[in-house]
Formats: sequence, structure tokens, C-alpha cells
Amino acid sequence: MAPTESPVDLVVRASRVLVEGAFRPAAVSVTGGLITAIDDIDTVLTALEDRTLPEGQVLIPGIVDSHVHVNEPGRTDWEGFASATTAALRGGVTTIVDMPLNSIPPTTTVEALDLKRAAAEPQARVDVGFWGGAIPSSLGALRPVHDAGAFGFKAFLSPSGVDEFPHLSTEQLHAAMEEIAAFDGLLIVHAEDPDTLEHSPAPEGASYSAFVRSRPDASEQSAIDHVIDAVRRTGGRAHILHLSSAAALPAIRAAKAEGLRLTVETCPHYLSFDEEHIPDGGTQYKCCPPIRDAANQDALWEALVDGTIDLVASDHSPSTAALKFAGNGDFDLAWGGISGLELSFRAVWTGAAARGIPLESVVRWMSTATSDLVGLSDRGRIAVGTQADLVAFDPDAAFTVDAARLAHKNPVSAFDGSELRGSVETVWQRGVVDAGGRLVVRPA
Ligand SMILES: [Zn+2]
Repeated sequence: MAPTESPVDLVVRASRVLVEGAFRPAAVSVTGGLITAIDDIDTVLTALEDRTLPEGQVLIPGIVDSHVHVNEPGRTDWEGFASATTAALRGGVTTIVDMPLNSIPPTTTVEALDLKRAAAEPQARVDVGFWGGAIPSSLGALRPVHDAGAFGFKAFLSPSGVDEFPHLSTEQLHAAMEEIAAFDGLLIVHAEDPDTLEHSPAPEGASYSAFVRSRPDASEQSAIDHVIDAVRRTGGRAHILHLSSAAALPAIRAAKAEGLRLTVETCPHYLSFDEEHIPDGGTQYKCCPPIRDAANQDALWEALVDGTIDLVASDHSPSTAALKFAGNGDFDLAWGGISGLELSFRAVWTGAAARGIPLESVVRWMSTATSDLVGLSDRGRIAVGTQADLVAFDPDAAFTVDAARLAHKNPVSAFDGSELRGSVETVWQRGVVDAGGRLVVRPA
């Protein structure tokens, strides 16, 4: 039977297409950048282009990374939109949401948000959205940034590492939550407690274990307790960024059981590395909060599987190589941040596969849940009506990471030399290969 309708732009057929959380054979039709139909794999369709993936490749939605520091303008030598979005594309990431620091100015005003957008738009190879920042001087003036399309507001509870993005006191945290709850926005929090940090032993040069002791579990626990308290008092919505300490999980479980509006993320490096295997002087592994021990890592994986942790985002936080290795291995002096954007999806998949956790779960944590965090229900899943950001992925391919070949600006990576699984074979953006990125705003 010859179909009579006008042809669709693209059909992608595969024996394993991720639809509604499970793999099945299907033919995905795309027209005008949107998924218009999901049919049986052998359905006769009229299409301008009809692709059948080779056996071994699966079709998944593009990864959405809700935690990326691009640093442009102002610190473009650390990272810029051209290099970051190229790294994203190579890693199967089709949307990133940029953090309000470490660019100059930080994204704490509408003017700064406009500067960010102007810098990103001509260079973006993947879709880019923006977080705003809640710092002492922006409190009381958050609503305009929300109305301008920022996805929410990031706050630190301890020093951020850059002077132009000061942290909030506990009192200011409550004020920020109250202000944001009034327009039903989202506060995202770097949760380490400055008092606990101050009373912890100082880092000792190149010793990694001393660095971990300088930022103990108690610091995350205490800060997260403050956030939970603020959520409970205001009825607002908060998200814990880059959870490292499994010791905070019981409080998070209790808060969720209580019905508080709290979500939590962790990052590929906390799921991939552990304290025992980090060499002294290995400041490419320095991040805050720090990577802890293997038992802690196991507990983070369990919390992802049981839903206590909602999602995984890269916290791609680059600097120049000079800053990352400042002090020749001194953990106190080196920049804290790990560059993982290009590798994050495959790193998490590698760890998941080793634990017998299916790829479906990894895509849920890194695409569906990250999209849901920022309210972008038009992506993060293969479904009729969503944006046709699709990745043909070979889950069984293996490769060794060579940091020098990664696309982000400064060739430093904690993953250098790691054996990872998975190969990103083809990326379609709105149904087109290398279509270029667009700016995205919070849906009203
Ligand atoms: Zn970050």
C-alpha cells in the first residue's frame, strides 16, 4: 500500500528505541524538528530520509546537562561557548544549562543574563539555557531574572571560590527561599557549611586524604539540614547540587517522605572515583565537596537506584591548566572543579553497567530527570510532540580517554586514561545532524 500523506523529514528505525522508559523496536518519524509519530519498526512510511541503525546501536533522547560552567564572558580562557558546546555534542549532550558563575559578570541581573545570551547565541552548537544567581546583593531583585527566563537561582552557603559570587548566610538562605517561593521558582544550592569547614583540619599540601578531611561529611549534612529547614518553612522548591556525602542521604530521604519539595543531584566523578585511588598531588581530582571513599560511592549508586538522588549532571567546571595545577599538587592552592561534560554520560553508563544497572536508568537520570528539573518537558524523552534531539548510541563500544583529545578548552581531565564504555555515533538536533544550538528559556 502506498502512503498518500506528504513525506516526513526523517525516519530513524532501530531494534532498540527508548520509549516510555523501555527499549523496543520502533520507527521514529520527525517533521519540522518534532517527533510526529512512533510506529512499529517495519511500518511503511514516506520520508525524505529513512535511516535504520545498525544492530548494536540504540536510539535514546539527547542528554540534558543541567549543571555546566561555561565561564564566558569574563573567564573565556577557562571555558567558552564554542568549546563547551562542542564537547557537549561529542558526548551526546543536546542541551546544557549554564551556571551563573564563573563568568564575569556573574548571571545575577537581567543585564548579565543578556550578556550571557549574546555571547552564547552565535557560538552554541547545542541548546543553552541559563541559571541565575542568588548572592547577597541580588536578594530582593530575583523576580526580574526569573521573568527573563532563567531556570532558577544558584546559591552557595560557603565561599564559592570567586570573589564576585559571595555566599549566603543561613539567614539570607531563608530570605532567598521566601522570595523565590513567592513566584514558585527554584533555588539550587551548593551545600557545604562554612562553620563546619572553618572548624575542620586544614588541607596539607599534596595529601588527598587531608583534603577530604578538610571538607568532611558533616559540612554537607549541616548545610543540607539548613536547606531542608528553609524548604519546610517556606513551602518553596530547592535542589541540592553535586551531593558527595552519603551521610546526608537519611535526612534527604526523610525530607522527601515528609513531602518537601526537594530534589538532589550527584555527579559522574563521585560515581566513578574514590579516595583510595586518587594519588596525592592529583589535583585534577579536586572538587568541592570532595570525592569520598568507595563505601560512600556505593551508597550514592544505591540512592540513585532507589530514587533518593533524582539525577546526575556533570558539574563541568573547568579552569586553565595553570590554575588546576597551581601549587604543583597542593590541594589548597589548585582550582577546584572537574571537566567532565564530554564524558559524563559514558562515565556514568560505564559505572552503571559494571553494577548491572540498565542504560534506561542512566538516560532517565541524565536526560528525563534533568529536563524535568528545569521544566523542559519538550525534551529528555522520545515521545510524540517533543523536540527531535536523538542520539544513536553504541553501549558496548570501549575506549580509553585521552584528555588531549577532548573538546573542552583546557585539556585537563580527571578521566584521563580511564577505560569507558559507549560510543556516540550520530546526534540529531531537531531532526538534523549538527543543526546548531538555540537559546532556551524557562517555560512560563
Ligand atoms: Zn558547579
